[in-house]
Amino acid sequence: MIISAPSGAGKTTLCRELLKRFPHMRESISYTTRQPRPGEMHGEDYFFVSHDEFQRMIAEDAFAEWAEVHGNLYGTALSTLENSRKNGIDLVLDIDCQGARQLKEQFGGGSYVFILPPSMAELRRRLESRSSDAPEVIERRIVRAAEEIREVRWYDYIIINDQLEHAFEELSAIVIAHSRRTPRMLEQVAKLFDI
Ligand code: ADP
Ligand code: 5GP
Repeated sequence: MIISAPSGAGKTTLCRELLKRFPHMRESISYTTRQPRPGEMHGEDYFFVSHDEFQRMIAEDAFAEWAEVHGNLYGTALSTLENSRKNGIDLVLDIDCQGARQLKEQFGGGSYVFILPPSMAELRRRLESRSSDAPEVIERRIVRAAEEIREVRWYDYIIINDQLEHAFEELSAIVIAHSRRTPRMLEQVAKLFDI
C-alpha cells in the first residue's frame, strides 16, 4: 500500500493505527540524506546515509524509486520490496507523490492512497497544533500541500481525514479489499478446493 499526503494531513497517525490493526503489514524503511530528528533511529525510522552513499545507490540502480523532498533525498530500495515479496509481507510505503508516480509507472501493483485534510484551514490548524515546525516551515508546507493535492487524480483511492475514526475505517477497508483480490486468493482457494 502506497500512501501519500500533504504534511499535516494525518498520515503518520493513520499509518500507526493501521500497523497495529494489521500485524501482517510492515512499514517500508526508506533511505534518506536528511539528518535524524531527536529520537529517530537508523534502521527503524530511516536508513540515514550520506549524500555520496545515496548517489552511489542511484548509480547502482538500487532504488525502486527516489525523489528530492524539502531539499533532501529519499528513496525506497528495490531490495526492500523484493524481500517483502519473498517473505509474504505487505508493506506500507509512506512516500511523496513523485516517488509514488515512479512506482505506479514501473510496477503498477499495489493500492495507491492519497490522504487529504478536510480543508486548507484545518491543515494549517493541525500543522500549528503539532508545534514541531517553525512558522516559515509551516508556510512552506502549506504552499507545497496545494501543489501536491493536484496529484490526487491518478491515485486509486482518496481519503478525507476529517474524523479520525472514519478515515481509519476507510483505510482499513482498502487494506481488506486489496487482500481479497482474486490473484491474492487463488493459492488459498486452490488448496481448499483442489482446482
Ligand atoms: P502527517 O504525518 O500527515 O504530517 P500527523 O499524523 O503528524 O500528520 O498529524 C498532524 C497533526 O494532526 C497531529 O497533531 C495529529 O494528532 C493531528 N490529527 C491527525 N488526524 C486528525 C484528525 N482526523 N482530526 C484532528 N486532528 C488530527
Ligand atoms: P520526513 O522527512 O518528514 O520524514 O518525510 C518528508 C517526506 O518525504 C514525506 O512526504 C514522506 O512521504 C517522503 N518520503 C519518505 N520516504 C520516502 C521515500 O522513500 N521516497 C519518496 N519518494 N518519498 C519519501
